[in-house]
Amino acid sequence: MDKPGWWFIFKGHRLLTYDDHGKASVPFLRNAGALEISPLRMLLIGGFNDARCYAAELPETAEAPQNMAFNGLRGLFGVLDENMFAMAMKALGIINWDRISQFCSQCGAKIESGFDMPGKECPACGFISFPRISPAVIVLVERGNRVLLGRAGRFKEDLYSVIAGFVEHGETLEEVVRREVKEETGIDVEDIRYFGSQPWPFPDSLMIGFTARYAGGEIKIDGEEIVDAQWFDAGNLPEIPGKISIARSLIDWFIEKHSKKGGADR
Ligand SMILES: [Zn+2]
Repeated sequence: MDKPGWWFIFKGHRLLTYDDHGKASVPFLRNAGALEISPLRMLLIGGFNDARCYAAELPETAEAPQNMAFNGLRGLFGVLDENMFAMAMKALGIINWDRISQFCSQCGAKIESGFDMPGKECPACGFISFPRISPAVIVLVERGNRVLLGRAGRFKEDLYSVIAGFVEHGETLEEVVRREVKEETGIDVEDIRYFGSQPWPFPDSLMIGFTARYAGGEIKIDGEEIVDAQWFDAGNLPEIPGKISIARSLIDWFIEKHSKKGGADR
């Protein structure tokens, strides 16, 4: 731990950065002791440009050292360098996992954090556990120049997004796409195509993005996860998620396509 490296130090979802006239930067230190902080956990999470990257978590009562501040990670999107931001997302995911895996899930024995290990080995039974990653699909459904967007009950009012849901055991990703869209909106889809993916460590997801085309059905919301769903015209969208999310990338792709081709199908 005495080689200098980038330190991604979190308090909840907030990252400790230098606060240099509105420009946030991640500390590069020989060890966290230089900041006179007392982390709950410290982990080696990888490397970046020949330097090590460490993750640490501070207790909620911790105060920021001088000239530093805690910033919500999502708010640092577009502020931190892209690679630094990606490493910060990874750091948060691993910290979350380390916190919830303090005991062996097979025998219940206390397990120590594997400082430089991808997983943790139980000293009592030898069971090795690895960071949990929960795959979820997110899908933009098109119908000509209209897009299917839903408003989740947990969203702030007027915010609409594409449909998403977690993968269950035994399902292919295409099956999840069909099931989630059907369950949440009553719509059948076809022509499912991979779009891209995004790690989302709030707390441990991997979002796998798709596009799909309307194949049939009328909108019928489930009323639980989704409280409203509508077909929106490409030129007349409601409030949509921020730039950080793959949801927004999907919607931007749709807008771009229809602004170029004047509503033509792909
Ligand atoms: Zn065990």
